[in-house]
Amino acid sequence: MKVYNFSAGPSILADWVKEEAQRQFVDYCGCGMSVVEMSHRSAQYAPIHQEAKTLLKELMNVPDDYEILFLQGGASTQFAMVPLNLMPSGKADYVLTGHFAEKALSEAQKYGDAVAVGSSREAGYTYIPDVDSLACRKEADYLHITSNNTIFGTHYTRYPKNKCLVADMSSEILSAPVDVSQFGLIYAGAQKNIAPAGVTIVIVRKDLLGNASPVCPTMLDYAVHAKADSLYNTPPVFCIYMAMLTFRWLKSLGGLQTMAEINRDKAAMLYDYIDESGFYVNPVQKEYRSLMNVPFVTPNKDLDAQFVKEAAAQGLVSLKGHRLVGGMRASIYNAMPVEGVKSLVAFMQKFAKEHRND
Ligand SMILES: *Cc1c(COP(=O)(O)O)cnc(C)c1O
Repeated sequence: MKVYNFSAGPSILADWVKEEAQRQFVDYCGCGMSVVEMSHRSAQYAPIHQEAKTLLKELMNVPDDYEILFLQGGASTQFAMVPLNLMPSGKADYVLTGHFAEKALSEAQKYGDAVAVGSSREAGYTYIPDVDSLACRKEADYLHITSNNTIFGTHYTRYPKNKCLVADMSSEILSAPVDVSQFGLIYAGAQKNIAPAGVTIVIVRKDLLGNASPVCPTMLDYAVHAKADSLYNTPPVFCIYMAMLTFRWLKSLGGLQTMAEINRDKAAMLYDYIDESGFYVNPVQKEYRSLMNVPFVTPNKDLDAQFVKEAAAQGLVSLKGHRLVGGMRASIYNAMPVEGVKSLVAFMQKFAKEHRND
């Protein structure tokens, strides 16, 4: 049975990426070793590292005055690294748009005066606060946003203007073109839209490096990793290799403009059906609906549980919503084929028909 994995993360990877990694797994390009057993300083690994960087720069059109880093510790470690590196004056502003934004703020509060300058918490995080009316402080070193809210299914359609805008893009990086020059720093755990868990992508403007707090651990200092080309210590070589394969795959499909069109179509298929169904509900204000994570509910909790179970039996797996919101969530990242979304909609139609009068 064909299985479509709708998990929010770790999540689906492209078939081509997995198959290519499999073909090369035991004997990488005839060198007699696997990437998983290679020195990160070997002649075989160096081109993988460089190609991953070059392709990411090309796909995202990253300007020359930015560093691309491959780090570890997931997006959650960035919650600490950002304030430890980018907050020399001790003040930072945050927008609360979900669970991860809350975690990022509370981590930053350990290191300085970090405050929420906008929030949609009172409305259950069903929208993104107006980016022109945030209560930003002039003295704050940066403004932190979560560009796509994985659990609540919202995303920014426009970004606030700020001298140092920092964005957690974990769950939508590479889903559409972004103008990197609007940001001081972008970070993303790879396990949502790029690679297996284990590598975190950081794209940081070079002039922001070198201001780390005196108590910043060496391993959490961006400047240390930038100077060493992300080889200060052992990087997650296999994850970086898998990321590189995903970047090749995205390039072969036509890059991020093409992905944006495909992603818009996939999401529209799902939202349009939810809205016209008279059975399923997505609570998010329409203009802020995420193109990557689509939460929805049936008329009651028992039906939600039954939906998740029956969908899984049909090969539509990992549809259970996050424990904070319940219901279902379909994560339809880059690697989710259109056919997966079509199968989901077909299942939803059948389920609604059977249970409309329950
Ligand atoms: C998943 C996620 C995180 C947490 O990522 P880890 O790599 O598990 O630390 C943070 N922010 C967002 C937006 C996420 O989706």
